[in-house]
Amino acid sequence: MYVTHLECSLTGERYPAGQPHNLSAAGKPLLVRYDHERVRTSLTRETLAERPAGMWKWRELLPLPEGGEPVSLGEPETPIVALANTAGRAGATSLLVKDEGRLPTGSFKARGLAMATSMARHFGIKSVALPTNGNAGAALAAYAARAGMEAIVVCPAETPEINVRETAAYGARVWVADGQIDECGRLIREGAAEERWFDCSTLKEPYRLEGKKVMGFELVEQLGWKVPDAIFYPTGGGTGLIGMWKAFDELEAVGLIGPERPRMYAIQAAGCAPIVRAFERGDESAERWEGAATVATGIRVPSAVGDFLILRAVRESGGAAIAVEEQDILQAVEDAARDDGMLLCPEGGAVLAGWRSAQERGLVARHETVLLFNCANGNKYPLTDRSRRLELASATASML
Ligand SMILES: *Cc1c(COP(=O)(O)O)cnc(C)c1O
Repeated sequence: MYVTHLECSLTGERYPAGQPHNLSAAGKPLLVRYDHERVRTSLTRETLAERPAGMWKWRELLPLPEGGEPVSLGEPETPIVALANTAGRAGATSLLVKDEGRLPTGSFKARGLAMATSMARHFGIKSVALPTNGNAGAALAAYAARAGMEAIVVCPAETPEINVRETAAYGARVWVADGQIDECGRLIREGAAEERWFDCSTLKEPYRLEGKKVMGFELVEQLGWKVPDAIFYPTGGGTGLIGMWKAFDELEAVGLIGPERPRMYAIQAAGCAPIVRAFERGDESAERWEGAATVATGIRVPSAVGDFLILRAVRESGGAAIAVEEQDILQAVEDAARDDGMLLCPEGGAVLAGWRSAQERGLVARHETVLLFNCANGNKYPLTDRSRRLELASATASML
């Protein structure tokens, strides 16, 4: 075993590995801890270079016991793509996108839920459930289908139709409810308490975080074992941001990088910005955001159980939490598509808008290496129809 134990992220209280867990006794997320001395003997830059690319090559720093079979749909290492024209227009030299839209089910939720369902199957769990704004439900449903488990998903009414239908296509039981994601989460919690299913809500079981942290491992290896100067991340529950911050510590602990860290920027929509408000007030945790609304549904999360971990990582890193307006999100999506041929999801648009705002505020320098996260495939979202109708009988080419 590479895992030594789990630990409460607030109190440090220890919990045994080898059995299912949700939150700690203090009601906070649990973090998986590893035997770093043992990991460092086999996880080296050289051995990693020889392994097939993808999340499972980081096996020694993942919780699935040796010999345990992952539930996998062939998760690729996602590419880092330069937005050269978008950068050039702003006078910047190195603007990169890690495009997580290439993963199974079209979003990075696949990473977390591949890991969570692998562990759930390992523990013999038969039924899994979560609340979702769309992408997590689709990923849970797909991996549960593959693992032969039942999946139950509850989503807010504004969840994009394509996600709801995709989730149902994998055979999950899907409910569309008249509330926000945290309110949907209450039903999931109640059902879990009645032992009807296992609660896979983000950060309420410890393994989704472990799947998502692989983004941090991957990007460092892809950048030649260097961390970028800054990372911009679309922050809902914050699992990816917290996960990457954990990943950098683990890479250092096993001798793969030094103490250098990127500045972490948590990007939220102005219509749902609880973390930004807490950051600006100097608070250690975030109050619930009432009346949350944004086109970037993946980051429409009024309250996050890992709020204090997000705020801690952002502050320790010397980064910031930034809110962006709806029109700037839409403009960013349009600009990246037209200028660089990159169709961002709205959450990815928020991140690009967040970088623009940070640049205007002098938070990032022109020459810095900046990595933006695009967390889903832009094709999963409704797009503006800009085509024009043509009657071929009366049309001539000179009209076009
Ligand atoms: C879930 C989601 C997010 C937010 O991710 P967290 O790690 O939970 O903060 C951002 N963008 C998209 C497309 C998502 O599906």
